[in-house]
Parts: sequence; C-alpha cells; structure tokens
Amino acid sequence: MRPALQPVRFGFNERRRNLERLASEEFDVLVIGGGITGAAAAYDAALRGFRVALVEKADYASGTSSRSSKLVHGGLRYLENFDFALVFEALREREILFKTAPHLLEAQVFLFPIYRGDRTGPLLLRLGLIAYDTLAGFRSIGRRKTLTPQDAVTEEPALNRENLRALASYYDASTNDARLTLAIVCSAAAAGARAVNYTRVLNLLSDESGRVTGAIARDELSGAEFEIRSRVTVNAGGVWAGAILDMSGATRSKILRPSKGSHLVFERTRLPIRNSIIFESPLDGRVMFVIPWGGFTLVGTTEVESGDSPDDVQASPQETAYLLKSAAKLFPDAGLGPQDVCATYAGLRPLAVEKGSDPEGAGKVSREHAIMEGPRNLFSVFGGKLTTQRLMGEEIVDMVAKRLFRQFGVGARDRCRTREAPLIGAPPRKELQATVAAATEAARQRGLPDEAGGHLVRRFGTQYRRILERIDAEPGLAELLAPPYPYSAAEAVYAAQMEMAQSLTDFMTRRTHLIYAGGADNRAIAERAARAMASAIGWGEDDVRRELDEYMRERERRRAPLAELT
Ligand code: FAD
Repeated sequence: MRPALQPVRFGFNERRRNLERLASEEFDVLVIGGGITGAAAAYDAALRGFRVALVEKADYASGTSSRSSKLVHGGLRYLENFDFALVFEALREREILFKTAPHLLEAQVFLFPIYRGDRTGPLLLRLGLIAYDTLAGFRSIGRRKTLTPQDAVTEEPALNRENLRALASYYDASTNDARLTLAIVCSAAAAGARAVNYTRVLNLLSDESGRVTGAIARDELSGAEFEIRSRVTVNAGGVWAGAILDMSGATRSKILRPSKGSHLVFERTRLPIRNSIIFESPLDGRVMFVIPWGGFTLVGTTEVESGDSPDDVQASPQETAYLLKSAAKLFPDAGLGPQDVCATYAGLRPLAVEKGSDPEGAGKVSREHAIMEGPRNLFSVFGGKLTTQRLMGEEIVDMVAKRLFRQFGVGARDRCRTREAPLIGAPPRKELQATVAAATEAARQRGLPDEAGGHLVRRFGTQYRRILERIDAEPGLAELLAPPYPYSAAEAVYAAQMEMAQSLTDFMTRRTHLIYAGGADNRAIAERAARAMASAIGWGEDDVRRELDEYMRERERRRAPLAELT
C-alpha cells in the first residue's frame, strides 16, 4: 500500500514561492480555475507524477463550487428525463467519495412528500425510488422506505400535512462544497502541484503553429504580470470557460448556457428539520430541497436563465420571495419571514449545450460534462457536477496524458489513483466514529465544548490534531469565535497557514460559513476572526479594518435581496 499523502504548509509564504516557480519553471500541465473541476484535474495529474500548476483568479471555490446545493447525489430528479447513465455514474462517484473523504460526506435521509395537485403521483415516486436504489445497487447507503402521511407527525413534525397524499424516504449525501474543493486543492499541493489563488490568466500563449504553450497571468495581490510555460493547458473555468477559450481565438462547438440557482440560509434553530426534504414547490411545481447543513438549514434552489455577470451573481428579490413563500407553505406553522433568513447565495451552473441546439429551458439541460481539445494542447471542460468531479478529473487527465506522451514523450509515473487514494486528512471510513471520539476527548482537554470534536473532524479529518497543536502552543486560540458554534480562533490561524486563506472574506465565507452566523453580532465574530488571522499573516491595525470593511460589504451583498422584501 502506498503511504497516505502528508499535508504541506499552504499559506502566505508558500503562495509567494509557488508564484516564483510558476514564472520560472516549465510545467507539463497548467490548470486554469480553482473550482472543484480544476482542483480535481490538478490533483489527478499531480498523483500521476506530472508537473502541475494551478491558478485561480480569486479564492479557491469562490465561483460555483461554494454556491451549490451541497449534495453528493445521483440526482433523483434526473430520472424524470430518463438520464439513467448519469444517475448511475453519479451514484458510483458518491460511493468512491465515501471511501476517499468520508469525513466530508454525510449520509442523509431525504423525505419526499406528495401533495394533492403535485406533478408526481405516489406510483411514479415509488417507481423512481425503486430505480434509484437499483442504480445504487450494493453502493446504497440506505434503502428507500414507503411511509404513510400519518408518519409525518413523527418523521418531520413541522411539515405541512394538509392535502398530503403520500410520503416516502430514501438516502443521499450532503457535503461542504467549499471545503471539499479545498481538500482536493490541498491534496493536489501535497502531491506536488504548485497552486496559487488570486492569480488571473489574462491571455493564452501560443507558438507559431497555433498550439497553446501556457498563459500570461497576473498576481491580483501585487499586480505583477508573468508568463507560465506549460506543455498542455486545461481550461476549467466553469462559467468563465467560454471567455478563456475565446482567448485562444478558437471557435466553440459547445456553448455555455448559464442557469442561475439561488438559496436561502436559515439558522437551524429557526427551521429545525430532522431530515432533508425534496418537494415540489406549491407555487409552480419545481423540485426543491430543504437541507439541514451543520448549524443551518438551506432552502433552494431556483433555476432561471441568467444574464448576470459571472463575477457578480446574486439572488434576485423575486427568487428570494419565491423560495421564502415555497418554504413557508411547506412549514406553515413556522411563521417564516424575511427577518428569519440569515443570507442568500446564488451561483451559475456551467451547463453545456451544443451550439445551435435549443433545449426547452435551463432545467432540461443535462448535467453531463464535455471535454474538448482545441486549439492543440488546450483542453476545455464544460458542464459537470460537484458529485462527478473525480471522474471529470480522471477523464481530463487521460486525454492530457495521451497528448503529453504522443507529442512530448512525457509518460505518467503512475496510473490514475483518485479512486482509492484518500484525500488529505481522510480517515478510513470505518474509523470515522473512533476519530470523532478521540477528537472530542482531545478537544475537551483543551477547554473546547463537546461538539468541537465532531466539528473538527468533519472539517479537517485527522488533521484536527494540527488545530489542537496550535492551541497547545498558544492557549488563547481556544477562544470561540461565534459561540455556541464551536469554531475556535485556532481555525483562523490554520486557514491562513495551511489553507491559503488570503482575506477575512475567504475565512468567513469558504474556510467556514460564519458569514451566516450570529445575526446582528456577525461583525463582532468577524472582528475576532480578523484579529486571529492578523497574527498569522502579519496584518496591522489598518489591514484589519480594511479586511473587516471588505467582508462586511460582501455580507451586505448577500443580504441585499432581503431588504427589498421587508
Ligand atoms: P467553478 O467552481 O465556477 O470554478 C471555476 C473557477 O475558474 C472559478 O473559481 C473562477 O474564479 C476561475 N477562473 C475563471 N476565469 C479565470 C481566469 N481567467 N484565471 C484564473 N481563474 C479563473 N452539483 C452537485 O453535484 N450537487 C449539487 O447539489 C449541486 N447543486 C448546485 C446548485 C446550484 C445553484 C449550482 C449553480 C450548481 C450546483 N451543482 C451541484 C453543480 C456544481 O456546483 C458545479 O458543477 C461545480 O461547482 C462547477 O465547478 P467548476 O470548477 O467547473 O466551476
């Protein structure tokens, strides 16, 4: 057996060193885009022994990869379109991820209530769930159950029971999308990839025959521009992939048809559901989710064709009102109103369609991905899902490896290993409980609350020890940033030193989701986090103030649609 990857420091200094290397070395593969697709490609390529560079224009996962519904799923609703192959593939990937990153996945019971007037009837639901379980086969994490409407009283007491015709349950999984992306980036770095965030590709380089030979990039923090030379380049720009392809002057056979999806975030105490719920919106019959997610409950999503710039995607007041009304009808006694929503978030699905085709609407476009080469040595990825990132990474690197071998005689040191190689910090699945128990005890000894053990393992896996080591070195770092949530100041230091967090916003929105916590006290939480990061990064008083101002602007943006409803 191969030894597990050892984490490497991945902070301010490493970013600087990686930038120097990017400007001076030649790479086999340059990956553009630090969302989950680019991360997966860089990780796979680095594990196969290629020399890999990864550049992200903002923060890792700051694009669509932190704005999803957080599900690692086959996608029950794709069965409506008879997308059996897609569902089967995704369920297989779900199982692989349970093996390689069990700490980042949570098996969840999904309830599916059917009301009078819904598009889906009880028989169709039953058939759909049988098909779903069959496609999962031996990989199933739990079997469907047919319940009666009366069971709603015990299964989900807050659920609307008026006109409830049928109820069923099945299993799927949820994750923390931003942290999953980050775990893959950190794993790629541990495997030797040179990754940098806040580095934007401005243009592509090509030789006289038109082959792409790298890129011109700009360090967005210093403004410095430099060239990155690489044999092959992967365009994993998500909804920006078209713009990156345009830099090469190639004509596109696929076009991106961005579809916007928005979510509402509630404190879990305000919407204390026990299960995830999939339901048809009583307003227009669209399939929606309500998902318990750590200390929060998510309600989503919309699916609207969007003309929003990918750099400024926000939930509209109409989407916000629609989500809120749909949730209020599902939980009529909860008395939900705009004042209960912590914040909104929105993302663009990078859906790919053939140029010239005219699908009926964003909801009908398949999530399947497409990878194309053109011009020579530039591989562009379109479409995909969080759930199938590993497979996309494998397929991209298979194509890249062929090109590297045929054109440059460069062979891989190893075959694809991402099916079995654990991500950084991943304990074996059967040891997850024991790891949580050990972490709980160790955290308690350092004065952290009991929930801190599970919280740390769910975020860092076995790397929780590194957080506790920081507290041992500086006991003040055990201070909780947002009680009763068990986030400690040590996590802010760790984010800066080991997860390349460059700003307070990176920490509050993607290393953690503290942006949703604390209501009116959120600024105080952010200030505590900024002070903890300041010692690790070397920020002075002015820097802390600037970081706080920038962060509060981002928070306000996410709350802006709510202001129009109150
Ligand atoms: P992104 O995450 O957008 O990454 C692309 C990156 O490229 C960005 O970070 C961007 O900054 C960077 N970039 C762009 N241009 C440049 C440049 N010039 N230089 C350097 N970097 C650049 N999938 C699931 O499996 N389960 C779900 O529950 C689910 N829910 C979803 C809900 C919504 C509302 C949406 C929108 C999507 C959902 N998805 C889900 C799909 C999934 O989130 C996406 O397929 C996935 O995150 C796309 O990742 P990506 O890396 O391709 O794109």
